[in-house]
Amino acid sequence: MSDRQSTALVTRFAPSPTGLLHLGHAYSALLAYQAAQTNGGIFHLRIEDIDTNRCRSEFEDAIYEDLAWLGLRWVEPVRRQSEHFGDYAKALGKLTQKELLYPCFCTRKDIQQEIAQSGQAPHVGPDGHLYPGTCRNLSKDEQESRIANNQPYALRLNMAEACERAGSLIWMDGNNNEAVTAAPEIFGDVILARKDTPASYHLACTLDDHLQGVTLVVRGEDLRPATHVHRLLQALLELQTPAYRHHALITNAEGVRLAKRNQAQTIRALRGAGLSPQDLKSQAGVATN
Ligand code: GLU
Repeated sequence: MSDRQSTALVTRFAPSPTGLLHLGHAYSALLAYQAAQTNGGIFHLRIEDIDTNRCRSEFEDAIYEDLAWLGLRWVEPVRRQSEHFGDYAKALGKLTQKELLYPCFCTRKDIQQEIAQSGQAPHVGPDGHLYPGTCRNLSKDEQESRIANNQPYALRLNMAEACERAGSLIWMDGNNNEAVTAAPEIFGDVILARKDTPASYHLACTLDDHLQGVTLVVRGEDLRPATHVHRLLQALLELQTPAYRHHALITNAEGVRLAKRNQAQTIRALRGAGLSPQDLKSQAGVATN
């Protein structure tokens, strides 16, 4: 690796093609792009389309078109996660070898029942109720016979064991590069491969940031909790840890954050209403020069 490559700032924008991009996405993409531009760095666009049921090619095409219209340029070819399931399987294999994963056969209903029957106040994490651990202690024989019977299963991380092995972890966050202590246990035994998708967002995103040499992750405040798990996965899989900048979310006039269903604020709709890329940048609050 040349000196330039090893020291260059590498950022990325990693949308999921499940809808049209809105003003909030434009803001995030522009911040990441500008961070790379002002430092002579590299900007990647990554398509996070592991959920093949929800992702649509017309939304992917719209991502390329809208971002190009905004003036962004990225490294080709674009990494499309649906073409890299083999990489995620390898990472899962490493964690399996370390005995940090277990198959979980529970349905949503099983989990709800288990929580209701436990009589204890449910523990809630960033993604809802924490998994009560039903399948964590199944014997090897039981696991194998259920798999042989084609019972669908997800792969969960044994969080207590993983935290114990990784020890105390930090990452650097924000414009002032402050150290944040990782607390991945807030997620409980997080799913790393789903029953219907052989990877999870946490796994695919963390691995790809490493494989693409990303040194600065710029993304919305809503994804800050995910960084606790990503930092743990970096330690377990011996991956690079980028710096993070979790930015404030763009809201509408009522102070509610934008969602993909807010059609009026999509880049498409704003373009259609006659806004120029420059107008859109100032509406998103991104300084231009
Ligand atoms: N694909 C994720 C999303 O569209 C974002 C991933 C990330 O920036 O880490 O919400």
